[in-house]
Amino acid sequence: MSAPTPIPNPEIKYTQLFINNEWVNTESGKTFTTINPVTGEPICQVQEGSKADIEKAVKAAREAFKINSKWRTMDASERGVIINKFADLMERDLAYLASLETLDNGKPFVNSVGDINFGIKTMRYYAGWSDKNVGQTIPVDGSYFTYTRHEPVGVCAQIIPWNYPICMFTWKMGPALTTGNVIIVKPAEQTPLTALYLAALAKEAGFPAGVINVVPGFGPTAGAALSEHMNVNKVAFTGSTEVGQLILQAAGRTNLKRVSLELGGKSPNIVLPDVDLDLAADVSHMALFSNMGQACTAGSRTYVHESIYDEFVKKAVERAQKRVVGDPWDPKTQSGPQIDEEQMNKILELIESGKKQGAKLHCGGKRHGDKGYFIENTVFSDVTDDMRIAKEEIFGPVQQIIKFSDIDDVIERANNTSYGLAASVLTNDLDKAITLANSIQAGTVWINTYHTVCNQAPFGGFKMSGIGRELGSYGIHQYTEVKTVTVKISKKSS
Ligand code: ADP
Repeated sequence: MSAPTPIPNPEIKYTQLFINNEWVNTESGKTFTTINPVTGEPICQVQEGSKADIEKAVKAAREAFKINSKWRTMDASERGVIINKFADLMERDLAYLASLETLDNGKPFVNSVGDINFGIKTMRYYAGWSDKNVGQTIPVDGSYFTYTRHEPVGVCAQIIPWNYPICMFTWKMGPALTTGNVIIVKPAEQTPLTALYLAALAKEAGFPAGVINVVPGFGPTAGAALSEHMNVNKVAFTGSTEVGQLILQAAGRTNLKRVSLELGGKSPNIVLPDVDLDLAADVSHMALFSNMGQACTAGSRTYVHESIYDEFVKKAVERAQKRVVGDPWDPKTQSGPQIDEEQMNKILELIESGKKQGAKLHCGGKRHGDKGYFIENTVFSDVTDDMRIAKEEIFGPVQQIIKFSDIDDVIERANNTSYGLAASVLTNDLDKAITLANSIQAGTVWINTYHTVCNQAPFGGFKMSGIGRELGSYGIHQYTEVKTVTVKISKKSS
């Protein structure tokens, strides 16, 4: 397949709320501005959903989920057909969708294309699940016939972050729809545009009215209204650990809605002395600098064995200095801007803390240019575990290289965090690789690779990095309630 050609000024087609397969304005008439992170200038105004609009969306979703509705009486295989059609439409509009994503998010066009291709595959993967979500027949004691059904949970709120807007939408939408749920999606306020376009594609694909609703807005208003709603059965959230805690509290205070959370991380990337140093430097660079460091799995604690430490630092700095930061529409660009001014300032403040606490700055450390929200690729060595840059999630292009000498010690240090999302081990020593993989508390451990996330395999966090898993068959379980049905029968037969 040839690479799509970018459309640098994509037409903005949808800025309203999408409820019940219709485009509507907010009850309050309020709008908010979505900003181009390359320039810091407004792109357009988008309708700002809040409590009253969430109320409307929940009503529409509830109606679509009623017994005897079109959606509830549809063959499971037919749901799969519609989801596949949706994937086909994403593929048809790949160039436009990727352009809209780059405009709103700032990531290089080639990476937007990669995200959308991933999202298309997610939808196809889950389309195949629609008629395979089978229960069990169970040989219970006595004269009974017992079976289980995996039923949809119901109205699912899906709160999406800004770092991978399309992927995160599909990761949530795919498993929810294939199992027969109805959804209300709240995209991040920084990146609402592609979610709205996906809503238009959902209507075109043939989802019945009310099955998919998209309400852009802010977290403390629209997001909180969803997590507190008595008639929402589940919230799936990807974002910060602080907000994840608020959502879980809201569920506990209200109707014990099901909650799945994919939260922050401070992932250790452990480089053992036997490894090919160029390969280790390449993988560690990609682990941190991909997506401008704006990945919850970012390899943001690079632990390097003391015997190769100085040479590794040299190679890491060379790679960071070579990485091209700039215009996301230019095919040579590897990193665009950070998402907004707030994130940029937070990252710059953490860089200052690293300098003050005695880490050695090798390159970067400042804003890149004076327009938009770019930051120079930054590498620190001589980082110690107690420094803020080694403990806090930076979510920016800032690599921390930390020294270790002993495997048991590095295991303890790697686990000495409230997070547990991902980790990696770079080595050719199989025994050490497995020892480390089995000892590190993380939902994903990569060996000699990084950021290898696949639709077929589960993804999620230990400890304060989350609850539940997305993707793979595990992702399906997050969207079903198990019902046990027991029938009295007159005579038992083995
Ligand atoms: P980040 O700090 O990376 O922007 P957030 O966790 O603040 O991540 O945001 C991720 C998503 O959560 C966004 O869609 C945001 O609007 C939403 N959000 C923020 N605060 C709340 C809240 N109190 N309740 C529900 N959703 C929220």
